[in-house]
Amino acid sequence: MERFELQKLRDLPIEGVAHQLGMKVQKHKTLCPFHEDRHPSLSFHTGRNTFKCFVCDAHGGVIDLTMQVLRKDFKEACRWLADEHNIIVSEWKPAESPQLITHNSKLITTKYAKYFAHPYLNAEARTFLFEERKLHPAVIRWCRLNSYTDRHDTPWLQIPYYDIDGHLIGVQNRRLSHPPLRGNEEVHPRFRFPRGSKCRIYNLPVLKMLKEGEDLWIAEGCSDCWALLSSGKKAIAIPSATLLRETDLESLNPKLSTLNLHMYPDADLPGEKLYLQLKTLYPEIIRHTLPTNHKDYSEYYASSH
Ligand SMILES: [Zn+2]
Repeated sequence: MERFELQKLRDLPIEGVAHQLGMKVQKHKTLCPFHEDRHPSLSFHTGRNTFKCFVCDAHGGVIDLTMQVLRKDFKEACRWLADEHNIIVSEWKPAESPQLITHNSKLITTKYAKYFAHPYLNAEARTFLFEERKLHPAVIRWCRLNSYTDRHDTPWLQIPYYDIDGHLIGVQNRRLSHPPLRGNEEVHPRFRFPRGSKCRIYNLPVLKMLKEGEDLWIAEGCSDCWALLSSGKKAIAIPSATLLRETDLESLNPKLSTLNLHMYPDADLPGEKLYLQLKTLYPEIIRHTLPTNHKDYSEYYASSH
């Protein structure tokens, strides 16, 4: 096997491989298959893409894990990975212009950057992104979306926010399952933001790809942004007009004022408010209207694909 291919196998997201090997991964831990384990003592380090059991000291990378679980030799394990993970190999190769993840002094970056080094989408995330929302896999790779399952067995989508230079500045967790209802209200929040997250403008690295006079679409949330990107439009998102600070936009002003701005305001009050707010700053912004009966771009996109 060529060295290039071996590296591809070593780079397969280890939690995804563990999943394929029949292990149940929660919060980066699982029951260790190499000793009698009652509480998950095998941990995954998604940044280094390795595993380690703190009881029996089994440890290694993707290929070691496969060899040990399936009791195969090196060559057989590689062959199994190459076969078993054909989909993952093609689906998960890094974006052509990977967003740079660097470590700065901020807690959020050091703690969370590793989760996005080898992103993995569990079954719920794939269903949500590819079947329900019909999003383009290249967009999901570019955005480095990740997923995990918490200790209550709830699947989450993990959405990284980067600054214009590709530094991780925030993480938004979106619940992928429907929680039990209490009365008519969902008991658990749909979104979670780790402490220190700055999730105000989404997909800023795309601005570096744009030249003067090019089109930029402004969406109202990540979902609309992914849908716009999937239809070939360059887009950023402002998740909430109320969370937005004027300084956020001011710092982007030199760039935004050289671009043709477009927007499909959501057919509701917050959508209108955001549009008007942007219009005061960028009077040239072009307003587009969604076909009737569609409340936002993401819904419109999914229904027409
Ligand atoms: Zn063990």
